[in-house]
Amino acid sequence: MLGLIQDWPLLCTKVIDHAALNHGAREIVSRSVEGPIHRTTYADVRVRALRLAKRLQADGIQSGSRVATMAWNTWRHLECWYGIVGAGAVYHTLNPRLFPDQIAWIMNDAEDEILFADLTFLPILEAVAPRVPSLRRIVILTDEAHLPESTLDIVPYETWLAEADEDFQWVKLDERDAAGMCYTSGTTGMPKGVVYSHRSNVLHSMIAIQPDAMNLSCRDRIMPVVPLFHANGWGIAFSCPMVGAAMVLPGPKMDGASIHELLTSERVTFSAAVPTVWMMLLQHLQASGGLLPDLKRVVIGGAACPRAILEAFEKRYGVEVVHAWGMTETSPLGTLNAPTPEWDGLDDETLYALKSKQGRAPFGVEIKVTDDEDRELPRDGRRFGRLKVRGIAISSAYHKGAGSEAFGADDWFDTGDVAHIDANGTMQITDRAKDVIKSGGEWISTIELENLAVGHPDVAEAAVIGVAHPKWDERPLLVVVPREGARLTRQDMIDHLNGRVARWWMPDDVVFVDAIPHTATGKIQKMELRKQFASYRLP
Ligand code: ADP
Repeated sequence: MLGLIQDWPLLCTKVIDHAALNHGAREIVSRSVEGPIHRTTYADVRVRALRLAKRLQADGIQSGSRVATMAWNTWRHLECWYGIVGAGAVYHTLNPRLFPDQIAWIMNDAEDEILFADLTFLPILEAVAPRVPSLRRIVILTDEAHLPESTLDIVPYETWLAEADEDFQWVKLDERDAAGMCYTSGTTGMPKGVVYSHRSNVLHSMIAIQPDAMNLSCRDRIMPVVPLFHANGWGIAFSCPMVGAAMVLPGPKMDGASIHELLTSERVTFSAAVPTVWMMLLQHLQASGGLLPDLKRVVIGGAACPRAILEAFEKRYGVEVVHAWGMTETSPLGTLNAPTPEWDGLDDETLYALKSKQGRAPFGVEIKVTDDEDRELPRDGRRFGRLKVRGIAISSAYHKGAGSEAFGADDWFDTGDVAHIDANGTMQITDRAKDVIKSGGEWISTIELENLAVGHPDVAEAAVIGVAHPKWDERPLLVVVPREGARLTRQDMIDHLNGRVARWWMPDDVVFVDAIPHTATGKIQKMELRKQFASYRLP
């Protein structure tokens, strides 16, 4: 016997329809690429998305066509996402921080037909676009007056958009149809294309807005600092309109001072970003004496959040931190570490050790850790193994299949992360499988060492890599960027770690550098760092 309930399709366009009808006047504030602050509403974004969808059809875009964006977080980028999915096409976000070769490879793999790009990226595009034969049109996200000269055939967005009206019906789709594409940034190999469906995007946002996830409401003013091009923009382009929250979009300026200015002038209550962004903000606040009077909560993920960041936010600025883990392949939310009743009354040490973990799987996500023989390990918060995940918004394969061996039996996806899970289901990442240090057959967590190292007040950033050792195979090397003006010695760092780590985890050496290489999404690039120190010999 079947249930007698409607199959209301979970389509991304339903989200903007809902926002326009029920929260139509809610503000979307953007720092424009041209400079000034721009203000619009959900109702207006929907109208312009309808025009955009109609205009895309006039350009020959059909259901399933890939339409790329290379853009900062602004209202125009948001309109593009909804216009593209409304035309039945697939938004494909490009990460401008990748090398031109990688961008060209990704665009060819996706077979992008039209590209929306910000002014900022014209020089990159002039190098990349001629190498993408499928690309038929480049629309620059600006108006006629700001359009520069270019070697490419480009049109200004506002003029192009004005050629269509909003008399349009969203293209009819199945909820399982593709809505978006995002390539993994290739920290661990060639980029792989992740394809989101309408259904997965809607379900993912329903997870994200819950109280024990991001806890979003129409009373919030939300600033996604995380770019829309990083891992599906953490789903924020859908979860904000789903609840009718105001959006504050930082555009091209993501330095500490610019972020702080918008956080305060626009009274932002919730924000999300990777640890490096927050580190910059906290350094700016420390130097300027600034405060965060309206900010209530931040979600930090994409890389392990050091305890020093958690404590600074909570104790100095009264901002609650939710540490989260996810991947491009998981839409991206996988686990979140919102407080549980068991945390009440815990002492600081225990509390912050718990808060530093990556958290629990919300309903709709299942996680487990397995050993090398694929046997599930007990949830004892101690034994670590490969983290596997499955659920309602988790990838089932990559575009065109390459790399899909990570998708195992019964849908369990091997994340490439190493983790343990405790009896309450709280997961902690100890490393990426490729970064973990194997010393005398035992594993050393580089993440844990890094988090402790950045707890030293004179450390701006730290990374730990394994270097070859004749007896132990590999031993940890601590690479430190000191704070400006600080005088740090090797002994200072060893003293700082002493008593905080097991003796055999102690780095064999400490080196000081001016900068640590980062990936296109702002994470420490371990592969590059290992190359830099390939010929390094431990003392
Ligand atoms: P890339 O693999 O190219 O960096 P992703 O942005 O999809 O692209 O990265 C996902 C990976 O980032 C995870 O597999 C994990 O290694 C790391 N990661 C994400 N969030 C966290 C976190 N909170 N703590 C530790 N690692 C994290």
